[in-house]
Amino acid sequence: MRDIDDHGKCVHCDFDLNGERIYEYLLKKYEGDCQKALDVASMYGAVPDRGRFGKEIYVKSYDTEGNKLPPYFQCPECGEKCYDINKGV
Ligand SMILES: [Zn+2]
Repeated sequence: MRDIDDHGKCVHCDFDLNGERIYEYLLKKYEGDCQKALDVASMYGAVPDRGRFGKEIYVKSYDTEGNKLPPYFQCPECGEKCYDINKGV
């Protein structure tokens, strides 16, 4: 499984895929309510110094016959698949 604290870089354009820390985002959202931020962060499997949002876009798609294709992550910068699935990154 991918490390929730390091989303890595796009294999195509080197775009940094690490987003905001989940806990810090929640702390702002709940106007400094640490307890609430902690509670919600734990639902993401995050703690104050571990766990970030990734900037990669989760894409689900279908082929022309309506069959489900394997989901993948798309780079917001170049639009390519940002992880090389064969490498298991
Ligand atoms: Zn890219």
